[in-house]
This record gives sequence, C-alpha cells and structure tokens, in this order.
Amino acid sequence: MSALHSMSLVETARALAAREVSSVELVGALLGRISALNPSLNAFITVDPETSLRQAAAADQRIARGEAGPLTGVPVAHKDIFMARGWRTTCASRMLAGFVAPYDAQVIERFDAAGAVNMGKLNMDEFAMGSSSESSFFGPVRNPWDLERVPGGSSGGSAAAVAAALVPAATATDTGGSIRQPASLCGVSGLKPTYGLVSRYGMIAYASSLDQAGPIARTAEDLAVLTNLMAGHDPRDATSVARPAEDYRRDLEQGLAGLTIGLPRAYFAEGMSADVRAGVEAAIDTLRRLGARTVEVDLPRMELALPAYYVIAPAEASSNLSRYDGVRYGHRAADYTDLADMYSRTRAEGFGPEVRRRILIGAFVLSHGYYDAYYLQAQRVRRLVAQDFKDAFAHCDLIVGPTSPTVAFPLGAHAADPLQMYLSDIYTIAPNLAGLPAMSIPCGIGAHDLPIGLQLVGNYFAEARMLGVAAAFQRETDWHRRMPAAATA
Ligand code: GLN
Repeated sequence: MSALHSMSLVETARALAAREVSSVELVGALLGRISALNPSLNAFITVDPETSLRQAAAADQRIARGEAGPLTGVPVAHKDIFMARGWRTTCASRMLAGFVAPYDAQVIERFDAAGAVNMGKLNMDEFAMGSSSESSFFGPVRNPWDLERVPGGSSGGSAAAVAAALVPAATATDTGGSIRQPASLCGVSGLKPTYGLVSRYGMIAYASSLDQAGPIARTAEDLAVLTNLMAGHDPRDATSVARPAEDYRRDLEQGLAGLTIGLPRAYFAEGMSADVRAGVEAAIDTLRRLGARTVEVDLPRMELALPAYYVIAPAEASSNLSRYDGVRYGHRAADYTDLADMYSRTRAEGFGPEVRRRILIGAFVLSHGYYDAYYLQAQRVRRLVAQDFKDAFAHCDLIVGPTSPTVAFPLGAHAADPLQMYLSDIYTIAPNLAGLPAMSIPCGIGAHDLPIGLQLVGNYFAEARMLGVAAAFQRETDWHRRMPAAATA
C-alpha cells in the first residue's frame, strides 16, 4: 500500500473496505497534513476537525456493519460555494464571511448520504470570479508546485488541496473554466459535466446559465466514481436535467479504437506557449498511438466566445448578487444614514474589486439603452458558438486541445490587467457557452517544471466516453501520478 495520502480516491476506498485503515485514522492523518501545509497553501477557508472525525467514526461503524458504499469513510473537501449545513459558507467573500449555511446543497446531501467525510471548505476566487484564486477575501491560494505561483481559479483551493495530497478528491464548480483551468495548473484531473447534469441547488449562484458543479481528483476513474454520485435529477433546480441514471465508469476499459478526435484549427493557431504546445502535441501523438484517428475541425466563431462570456456572465452575476443587500443575511455596514446608504455602503464594503467590476459591467450591459447592443448580441453569439460545436461533432467524437495557454503564472502577474486574467480562459469558456461537458487531465511538465493540462470536450452527455478516453491515456502515461514535493513530504 502506497503512502495513505498519495492514494487515489478509488484506492482509498479500497483500503477502507479492506479494513487496512479506518476512516478515523485516515481523516486524522489528513487533518494533520492540512494543519501542517495549509498555512502556506491557504487552500482551506474552514476546517472543523471535530465534525470531520465524528463523520469518520460514523463511517467506520457503517463499514463495520457491512453497509458501506463506494464512498463511505472517504475524505472529500468542498469548494466554499456549496452550502453545507452548520458549516461556515463564505464563497470567499467578506459579504458572507460569517455566514453559517442553514441547509445542504444537493451535492453535499449526496456526499453525506454516501458516508463521505467532509474535510472542510475550500478557498476560491470571490464568488467564483477569477482565474487565479487571488480574489479571495481570505487571501490567495498558492500552487503546491511553486508557492510563488497561482493554482488557477476559481476552484484553486480544490485543485491545490488534491495536488498537495491533503484530500484525494474535492468538489468544484465551472462557469467559464473554473474546474479545468485550476486542475491544469495544479497537475490534477477535473470534469465539468454537461450543463444541468449536477444540481445547482444550494450552490451559490454566479452566472446561472453557465454554472456547473463537478469533481477534481487525481484519476479519470476517480472522476467517474464521483460523477456517479453527483449527477442526477433534482426538482429543486429548474435547470436540472431528468435522465435515467448512468454508470460513468462503463467505458473506463474501452480503449480508443474507432475514436475520431477533432483538433480545432483555431486552438492550435497561436496563443499557446511553446511548452504547452509541445505537451499537448505529444499527448495527441499518444492518443493516436492508442488507436484514435485525428481530423482538423473548424470552430469559426471561437474568438467571439470570450467577449460574449464577459457580457453574459457579468449580466447574470449582477442579477444574482443583488440579493446581498445587508437586510436578510451577510455583511451589513455599521454606519449609514438611510436605506439607500445602507445598501451602498454594505455592498461597497462586502464585495471586493473584481466582484464590483462584474456587477458594474453586468448592470451596464443590461441597462435600457445597451441591452440590444450588448446582452442580446452576446446571446446570439452564444447560439453561434454552440452551432459551431454541433457542426464540429458531425466529424468527430471528441475535441482535444490545451486547457490553459500557459503553465501556472506568478502571483500578482495579472493584478494590474483584468483582461490578461480573462484570457486565461480562452480555451475553456466556449464549452460553457454551449453547455457541453469538458475535462482537463495532466499531460506533461512544461516551463519551470510546472504541469500542463490537456482539455477534452465532448458532445452533450458524453461524459462516460470522455472518461474512458482519459482513463486509457492515464494507463499509458504517468503525468497524473506526478506530485509536487509538498505532496510527497
Ligand atoms: N475565470 C472565469 C471568470 O472569472 C471563469 C470562472 C468560473 O468558471 N467560475 O468568470
């Protein structure tokens, strides 16, 4: 048995089921790692060792009674965007810094019912707005591969915690790349399912037509197990899709024979750094060697995806975040003269600069004189981007390319230039606009000995097939087994 903390989720579950280790022992060991490493990584906003150990003890009893499921006793940490009853739930904002969730998100309910142990709440960009996890009210998350660099965002805490082997798996959310880009920058695997596959109930809203929850873990097999748990219809989320349950592990052993991979000309034209290009091209060669055929595809409107996203996402955010008014819950300014003054002081104090920027942009593009020119136009572009994917999937089963144009960048690198930060998501945003499933898996080591991620984009509900391709790649390579020094210490 390899060191406990460096095992995958599936290996961890197997060790628990075989009684090689108890959940209490495992959780205790990981809590020790968290208290040793979190002061430098800042991946967790909240830990509650007593609650985690209590859940672990309950899981051990369940295992002893022979009633364990595949995730019973397995430690998992959650992005602090998911409401978890009794846990402080902040979305990394001063606005919710003291907020204790009164109910569970559907995602949390499912992990609890499975007997997984909640290891704590993970740091992120404030309200999931960002690509570096630097906009958190609780301070930036650091990349375990290099503490002077960002882990990506907004789910930077989730990716950093898995990469540093503080937990075998974490939940995350992806509005424009927030599962895939941090997974890429931290050398771990992440899946953003088809829009609507996982319930958004109890998940703090950023841009509701784009937000989707998914898992971050080390292996494709782990992601399949986690997707089995997280996916499913929920009548409390009006955009949750009702479809028969699937086993997302079903294609893990399938291999690549007969698979056609589309390589979008636009993704490979320019913009990628040389090290990322080399890693991605080598990965594509590996996929070919495993039996896949590649074809070039066109995504002609791809360059419009980023500008359309930065109209639509802020528009929805400005509406969603109007609920933080200082009246019902969250931060309220101490001094004010009247109601309007209370609103404006509360929101000016409670929201950080990036969130305020998004609210201003969103309110502007939705305003009477500009609605047609910006918001409506962006919605039309969104439709065209989805059509481009539809056309491309007539010629291929899967689209492959880079996840991020560069490896992890230094902390503060984009501090003065929000547009540079927005460009981090140039490859990840289009699948969100179309609602398509997409994932990132480690595929190489680039400049400064930092990980490179390969993005796979599938057709609607093609998660099982994508996971199968990723699993085949991971049987052939060991990039997903590489760990930063912090993880093996
Ligand atoms: N970086 C993008 C943004 O800031 C995407 C974030 C996300 O997926 N939550 O909006």
